[in-house]
Amino acid sequence: FLYDNARGPHVTSFVSRSFKVFPAGSNGEFDLPEDLAIVISRGQGCELWDTEGKHFYDFSLGWGSVLVGHAREEVVEAVTRQAPLGSNFAYVNEQSLLLAEEIVRLSPACEALRFCASGTEATMYCQRLARAFTKRPKILKFEGAYHGANEIGVTSLFPSDPPPFPTPDPTSAGITRLVADEVLIAPFNDLEQTAAIIEQYADELAGVIVEPLQRCVPPVEGFLEGLRELTQRHNILLLFDEVVTGFRLAYGGAQEYYGVVPDLVAYGKALGGGYPIGAFGGRADVMNIVREDHLGQDDYVWVASTLGGNPISTAAARAALGVLSGENVYPRLHALGNYLREGMRGVLEERGVEGQVIGDGPLAQIVLTKENVVDYRSSRHVDTYRARHIMLGLFHRGIFLNPMGTKLYLSLAHDENTCDELLDCLD
Ligand code: PLP
Repeated sequence: FLYDNARGPHVTSFVSRSFKVFPAGSNGEFDLPEDLAIVISRGQGCELWDTEGKHFYDFSLGWGSVLVGHAREEVVEAVTRQAPLGSNFAYVNEQSLLLAEEIVRLSPACEALRFCASGTEATMYCQRLARAFTKRPKILKFEGAYHGANEIGVTSLFPSDPPPFPTPDPTSAGITRLVADEVLIAPFNDLEQTAAIIEQYADELAGVIVEPLQRCVPPVEGFLEGLRELTQRHNILLLFDEVVTGFRLAYGGAQEYYGVVPDLVAYGKALGGGYPIGAFGGRADVMNIVREDHLGQDDYVWVASTLGGNPISTAAARAALGVLSGENVYPRLHALGNYLREGMRGVLEERGVEGQVIGDGPLAQIVLTKENVVDYRSSRHVDTYRARHIMLGLFHRGIFLNPMGTKLYLSLAHDENTCDELLDCLD
């Protein structure tokens, strides 16, 4: 949504501004046609309506932040009942205590917990804690992982894929060489190479951060267990970024689902039922260094997030967790995910489209290839992404999802009929 003096406020793309920064040779290529420049005004459950009244089935669910559906009654009620007290940093509020108790109960890794306002903050605090606790500087992450808009999140982002954000060179992205030099990058799902890097840098490594299901790619058998064993052997902390997987693969997240318990864990997205919140927690001895009674010691980590754990967000999160802890929620989400992935594979195969369908539980991704086509405006050959064409086609038919480069991301909380609608449209 842009404002310019000649045109006043206008919409240049309907899904997200990230279209403007796809590295497709010409950024303008990702401008959407005028008739597709829509503004969403209302959501209910897994459906959306734009300001013109056009209806969509929503397979984005706010980039996965509303797993319980838009305007979920329980969440709306909880938020309406709770007075906005603003900062949990100013006063301890009842909602945040009750929420913390529930997360510590459900999360195998969490003996203690702190709130912040986003997934980005949560992963940042996990790294800072690891560095302060181990008194070592380096963090190892995996190629293609995204950990938020902080230094580690965007350092060497997606090097093997068209980067969806303009951050290929860490120093030009506002990140100092100092920070970039402390990040090591290993290939995801390659335990042998990862072990070699860990062993080479063991004395300098504070932590290994991993998305247990990385961008919808499941871990190969033994990978997470191997990381657990290697990090334990070298006294390095294992950090799970569960911003996407938390409360999604299972109520206890990837830790419960894959049966591997990290030292620290970061949460965000679905936790808040659509309201902004993040949380990080883990081993009590590590978490102790954020306590005010630790002030003045050389490993003290200052945690300050004005609206982190504010009572509106924590009330919403408690209501969302109330819904997610209900009977049969996860078996149903997994069954739907399997149904949709199978269906999408069937469509690609039948239509002879080169691509892959990956994911687990209520998370799915269609990975497509790049195409070289003639741009109708410049008459030049340019790379474009089939994902975008498919997304536009689906969009015309009232299906909403998020593309990124060669991939289409899907988030599920739908019923089978809605999945059938998507499969029909995709076909
Ligand atoms: N970690 C992962 C795995 C994510 O996918 C994201 C966001 O997409 C983040 C961290 C950052 O979360 P946020 O954008 O809420 O700050």
